[in-house]
Amino acid sequence: MAPRSPSPSGMDRHLVKVRVLVMFFGAGLGLAVLALLLPGGPGAAPALGKALMVGNGLCSLSALALLIRARRQKPLNRFDLPLLLLAQTATLGGVLGETFLFGTQYSFMTQLWVTVFAAGFLPRRLVWAQQGLGLISITLMVWMRAQYGATPPRLWVVDALVTALPVVLTGVAVAYFRGEAEREALALEAAVRTDPLTGLGNRRALFESFGTSPFSPSGRTGLVMLDIDHFKGVNDRYGHAEGDRVIRVLADVMREHAAPQDLLTRHGGEEFVWVTAVSDEEALLARVDALRVSFAQRAEALGVTVSAGIAVTRQPMDDPASSLLALLRQADAALYQAKAGGRNQARLAP
Ligand code: GH3
Ligand code: MG
Ligand code: MG
Repeated sequence: MAPRSPSPSGMDRHLVKVRVLVMFFGAGLGLAVLALLLPGGPGAAPALGKALMVGNGLCSLSALALLIRARRQKPLNRFDLPLLLLAQTATLGGVLGETFLFGTQYSFMTQLWVTVFAAGFLPRRLVWAQQGLGLISITLMVWMRAQYGATPPRLWVVDALVTALPVVLTGVAVAYFRGEAEREALALEAAVRTDPLTGLGNRRALFESFGTSPFSPSGRTGLVMLDIDHFKGVNDRYGHAEGDRVIRVLADVMREHAAPQDLLTRHGGEEFVWVTAVSDEEALLARVDALRVSFAQRAEALGVTVSAGIAVTRQPMDDPASSLLALLRQADAALYQAKAGGRNQARLAP
């Protein structure tokens, strides 16, 4: 069986979350290593600073290891709390380590990453917990700077780099998951108008899209209602799955016979609607007959046929919504005539 798609767009939220977190923790690890490689500054307790930086690096490494494991072990949700605690501890360790090592606090902005991770991916109660933890951490950071911060000469290049990195990375991450969310919203919008069995439009698509496409120069619109004959018997004899296949065959035949701008929808069960531009009724009747013959040939092994009712507007439509209701009513009555007349035929509404 094919794996269940996590969303209509096929977007894997799990993967988006893992990627963003790998980016954050990878950057955190990089900054920790950089701080350990730099020559010491006028910090108050360089040994403690180094230990805190090593702690920061270890937190980031553990988080990356956890993410490698989690990649294959959905859902990621059960790792939310450990990842949040690792992110907050690594951030606090990094900022305090920097204060003790160099007397600076360039990496203050890394607190942003934890906030973005929480706001983007965590359940609401953990977002509030993160906000609380974040405020406590920032208070501690500010207090430590007041206590132990030196006033070293400003290394503007380092200052700019360490400040810019979290800001840029935050922007990239937010833009990334916003893009994914927009893609998913578009796919969802398309999905609510699509019939999942056939890929044609559904009833909603018919009512929302009718009258929006450009129609023929004569301005006349035809609506064909198709209904498979004795379909209950197909299900009874060959099973529901074979019945579904026959429905898909009719959808394929409709696609082959329709013009590109036509509206094709599955109205329900084994009933379909085809909206198309027409110059006159007889031309449309010939097209529907051709479709009907194609379908009968394609479903010959099962002996299945289709009947159709056709209604055409007399002139361009003033009010598409009421025209649609009238066309549906007329096509339905013509379909009833086709069924009563022995099925496997198309009838024009009078
Ligand atoms: P008629 O020639 O008068 O149209 O007869 P019919 O048997 O086709 O008419 P009816 O509308 O009574 O039967 C429609 C059947 O379609 C009943 C239902 O079980 C079946 N059906 C509805 N939706 C689906 C579907 O999605 N898949 C399958 N396999 N069967 C469906
Ligand atoms: Mg039927
Ligand atoms: Mg029916």
